[in-house]
Amino acid sequence: MRYLSTRGESATRGFSDILLEGLAPDGGLYLPERYPQIDAATLAQWRGLSYADLAHAILSRFITDIPADDLRGLIAKTYTAEVFGGDARIAPLKPLKGDPGMALLGLSEGPTLAFKDMAMQLLGNLFEYALARQHAELNILGATSGDTGSAAEYAMRGKRGIRVFMLSPFGKMSAFQTAQMYSLADANIHNIAVQGVFDDAQDMVKAVSNDLDFKRRWRIGTVNSINWARLAAQIVYYFAGYFQATRSNGEQVSFTVPSGNFGNICAGHVARMMGLPIRKLVLATNENNVLDEFFRTGLYRPRKSAETHHTSSPSMDISKASNFERFVFDLLGRDARRLNALFSTELQQKGLFDLSADPAFSKVGTEYGFASGSSTHADRLATIRSVWQGSAMLIDTHTADGVKVARAHQEPGIPMLVLETALAAKFPETIQEALGVAPPRPACLEDLERRPQRFAVMPTEVEAVKSYIAMHCTTGATVV
Ligand SMILES: *Cc1c(COP(=O)(O)O)cnc(C)c1O
Repeated sequence: MRYLSTRGESATRGFSDILLEGLAPDGGLYLPERYPQIDAATLAQWRGLSYADLAHAILSRFITDIPADDLRGLIAKTYTAEVFGGDARIAPLKPLKGDPGMALLGLSEGPTLAFKDMAMQLLGNLFEYALARQHAELNILGATSGDTGSAAEYAMRGKRGIRVFMLSPFGKMSAFQTAQMYSLADANIHNIAVQGVFDDAQDMVKAVSNDLDFKRRWRIGTVNSINWARLAAQIVYYFAGYFQATRSNGEQVSFTVPSGNFGNICAGHVARMMGLPIRKLVLATNENNVLDEFFRTGLYRPRKSAETHHTSSPSMDISKASNFERFVFDLLGRDARRLNALFSTELQQKGLFDLSADPAFSKVGTEYGFASGSSTHADRLATIRSVWQGSAMLIDTHTADGVKVARAHQEPGIPMLVLETALAAKFPETIQEALGVAPPRPACLEDLERRPQRFAVMPTEVEAVKSYIAMHCTTGATVV
């Protein structure tokens, strides 16, 4: 399997070549040259596989440059009951009694209680393997306001050849999120508490990444959501959900996905393109409804960061979804010239593009199965309450956005699976506001805030972060 860039100006590459990279050299995103097609016989064979075996069956179609036994080993050690939820099955379906035909797909039983663990844990093992093969090291630099940073740290902790330098806004995260990251004692994890807000931390990371000499010298990398391996790992649970919700391959299901950077639902799009019988892919946003607007009208108008709403489903507070270009590329029949005209010309010049009159846009629902909706803080509170009352289940704020939108798109006879992107325990303030009680927490995290914390406080100066990195990379960028 080779990978091409959506902007069409970079040569195709293998999986292992793009594994440690972000954007393609031409500024585009990587996608498989063509999607593997899964016929009915194969689909029937996959029904009944364990999660790890299913993951291997699917990912081996996309990863053809790692020896089969090695890949099987990496996947087997990632998707264990130990990492993902004690002795329960991985990605379980949880029916909502109060909403017949609807169920949650449980993706948040990993170490950080959010679905990002499902892909990030595999990424940690793939990175360690690839770096060992190249006799190389990698320093992962990132900025986080909570979820992504902790998922990355828990995936990379203790991994050989990898260090993580994660910048976070000092004193601006919840006590839970802070403790989750800062209590990690692994020598390769560096928490840097920046004396500023998230955007300051983000700017520092960008400034370091723009210094190409520094970047090359210290082998700086990232683990952001455009990474193809993360997306590939997310394809697996669409199949796992489908098999649990149906008895035979003649049946269809729909999925609703609480969305931010469009990574999670893009994996659903790929699963559908591979032939998984998905009827609808319903995109749910919060008040930051750029993508809902696009799927309803054809107008794509990303907001400026100052216009981004800070909501009670903060991991969806995104105004420019970094994976959206992947879907538009397919929608335009993979016409890289048109894609370039939209993303590198129109968007840059006008700040928007409009496909409402384009024949391609009329295929969004019919051919690609997309639908959408959005939610507000009041909707989230009401949905958390109604799911608690009707189904005796606690859902988090992001999943609540999903359930709210899913209800408007349910069809008789078609199971509707809502991706559970985090557990309620992560967002106790809003649960308290909705129900008057705090959500319970997994027993292993009971003492989280009382554990010793390890972090360095830093002013918002680029030079400070650079010298910190240099000081803590004793071996630096040596490629042996
Ligand atoms: C990251 C995240 C999302 C958004 O996922 P995307 O892949 O960026 O669309 C939704 N909910 C939670 C809890 C998240 O952490």
